[in-house]
Amino acid sequence: MTYQEMDTQAWQVLDRAHYLHPFTDHASLRQTGSRVAVRGEGVYVWDTEGERIIDGLSGLGCVNVGYGRPELVKAAADQMSELSYCQSFFKTTHRSAVTLAEKLTSMLPDSLNHVFFQSSGSEANETAVRLLRRYWNLVGKPQKRVIIARELAYHGSTHMAASLSGITPMHFAGGDLPLPTVTHIKTPYQYRNGFGMDPEAFGILAASWLEERILEIGADNVAAFYAEPAQSAGGAICPPMSYWPEIQRIGRKYDVLLVVDEVVMGFGRTGKWFGRDFYGIVPDIMQVGKGLTSGYLPLSATIISDRVADVLIEQGGEWAHGYTYSGHPACCAVALENIRILEEEGIVENAGKVLAPYFKAKLETFADHPLIGDVRSVGLMGGLEIVKNKATREAYDYEAHIGDHCSAEALKRGLAFRANGDTMSLMPPLVITTEQLDTVFDIAREALDATAKHFG
Ligand code: PLP
Repeated sequence: MTYQEMDTQAWQVLDRAHYLHPFTDHASLRQTGSRVAVRGEGVYVWDTEGERIIDGLSGLGCVNVGYGRPELVKAAADQMSELSYCQSFFKTTHRSAVTLAEKLTSMLPDSLNHVFFQSSGSEANETAVRLLRRYWNLVGKPQKRVIIARELAYHGSTHMAASLSGITPMHFAGGDLPLPTVTHIKTPYQYRNGFGMDPEAFGILAASWLEERILEIGADNVAAFYAEPAQSAGGAICPPMSYWPEIQRIGRKYDVLLVVDEVVMGFGRTGKWFGRDFYGIVPDIMQVGKGLTSGYLPLSATIISDRVADVLIEQGGEWAHGYTYSGHPACCAVALENIRILEEEGIVENAGKVLAPYFKAKLETFADHPLIGDVRSVGLMGGLEIVKNKATREAYDYEAHIGDHCSAEALKRGLAFRANGDTMSLMPPLVITTEQLDTVFDIAREALDATAKHFG
């Protein structure tokens, strides 16, 4: 049988036999089989059965300009035809990487002037931690090693990135994580960590958990605070506006560097170009990925302040760190074209001014749903937290997998709607229309109703 002749079942058999999927329970996958995607256009993906799915998740929070943009295909093809690969280890550079580095720094505060490229968000976080170590060693404070991250954080799947992550099953999986220099504090998750408080007072309280931990460890031992502007995979945890100014005040007070992971928030998710623009953050190190290329090719960037880069450049000698695909020409060319599309089509501006308020208003209509205890959003990222008892905020038992059940109900009806624990998350492409958002929310409600019925 040729590939063209294979039907869905034949693909599923091959998939099961050979393809180990990320973050997947393979025993369960063996029973259900995979959905086999074949084509994408705009906010839609089609599968081998001809079913059209509206992608409420932008893939994994990356397909910001939507699927099937011919300009991005052309940018990759043109670059590959001209210069398909270029290493940048041995005093060699190329135009796409240089142009992109300059472009990124022009979009950020004056203090952020240097860019290191990798392929993934996880690798960007590895780079950031190696930079932190190098920086504190070079300035004569090698004991500043501890990194304070947050519960429910997700920073990727390599050893260090999984350690920074505060999603505990990721630690149990290896048995030896988190690595000893990482510690986690509570997160600005008001529904669970400050219910009923005035939100701005809660933001100050949540920031004080950083100061408490710094004092416990001793400021002389703390390298950095590490966080997403708003937590995506943790379940759409959006801090009050008082949180970040207070975090930054505390960081400055104790000389603790600030690393901001914008892998999901960057390139418009909050309705501003970066989460830092939304919350007013000036990081020492910042990572972007995903939306940098809208997921068309793998690329991430670690953007580094003068404070850190100057030390590395002037005192560091050779920095023994790099990846074969650092600054890959085709990925950089696609990123530049993607940024051009976002800018020229006013996609980020429209997401902030038009779509985000509509999205928020629609999401908030779910507050009275019998399963929904909390509704959270920033820009085009939203979460609906499922609870067993709205009065007591009691959650369903983990084994019930109610969120996964709701995802499956949504998929049956043509919507990709993700469960982060018991929080149902939405992060649609930034090019979605208000009519398409209506469909997203209609299906989300049907899926929740069916879930309520099943568990009721
Ligand atoms: N940082 C954040 C905030 C993420 O959400 C992710 C992935 O979802 C990563 C880092 C890791 O990125 P990657 O999967 O490209 O390694």
